[in-house]
Amino acid sequence: MFWTGELIASRAPVRRRATPPETAATRATAAYLGLAIGDALGATVEFMTPNEIRGRHGIHQDIIGGGWLRLKAGHVTDDTTMSLALGTSILASGGVDAMAAARAFDAWMRAKPVDIGNTVRRNLITFRTSGSPHGTPSEHDAGNGAAMRVLPVALATYGQPENVAKMANAAQAHVTHHNSLSDAACETLILMVQAFLAGGDADALESQLAADLVRRFPVFAYDRKRCDNPSGYIVDTMQAVLQAFFATDNFEDCLIDAVNRGGDADTTGAIVGMLAGARYGLHAIPARWLRALDATIRQACEAQAAALFALAAGTPAVQGLTEVV
Ligand code: MN
Ligand code: MN
Repeated sequence: MFWTGELIASRAPVRRRATPPETAATRATAAYLGLAIGDALGATVEFMTPNEIRGRHGIHQDIIGGGWLRLKAGHVTDDTTMSLALGTSILASGGVDAMAAARAFDAWMRAKPVDIGNTVRRNLITFRTSGSPHGTPSEHDAGNGAAMRVLPVALATYGQPENVAKMANAAQAHVTHHNSLSDAACETLILMVQAFLAGGDADALESQLAADLVRRFPVFAYDRKRCDNPSGYIVDTMQAVLQAFFATDNFEDCLIDAVNRGGDADTTGAIVGMLAGARYGLHAIPARWLRALDATIRQACEAQAAALFALAAGTPAVQGLTEVV
């Protein structure tokens, strides 16, 4: 029988360090790291045009800090820190709660963040006087500030009915952005992240979730003109994000495509980084970007992703649904 062993041995594959298979949990962590990496990468070229970026960096592809915020390499901006503030409030409340989110954002603003959007500032100041976390519907709230921080909601409501995720999102989003375009974008991003965590296929998602967004709100159509220099308007943001996301087939190219469009590059980078992390998983994140990300921020993202994912698996993620609606 000795030849059997020989045969098996000769057919045995060359031993490599195996890449562990991606799970929903590893994709959740990758989404959070992708958000922070896209933010850190994009901040360098925020408010620059593609031409200005080409002139200064060629192709901008390394986390080097700088930019108009004079950021230290590996540091992040409001996109990541507001997400972390929201996630912390969700974990403390045991679910998404509008008042807890509003208080967390208010405390975040008092701590003097490196950057803050105009809509976020204006509506948090309103919250301080009104005491109401629900905001009032406004056409002036169609900025990308609620969409950039949806990840904790996507993780905390993973596995729950769509409607629960949408109500949870409204609770956090309407604190600063009570607007139907913002809501539609937030909901689409949440459902996309959740579908990728479950192992969903990008082509299927494009024909379902992204197409559904455009069908409901044709202004989001992203198959026309290339969106360069995207503003903070949620429509610009989503067009740049969806173009970069569906035109590339790996994590690195996806983020490089998005941030080299300039404009609100830290936010398009953060959002597309979140989607790409969920889609491609942890092993797809370039090592040089992981190394460059500030260690404290990296650890906060990893810890929060795991905790929110555990919350979704174990407990109902929305408290006080009646308060939300
Ligand atoms: Mn920012
Ligand atoms: Mn930004």
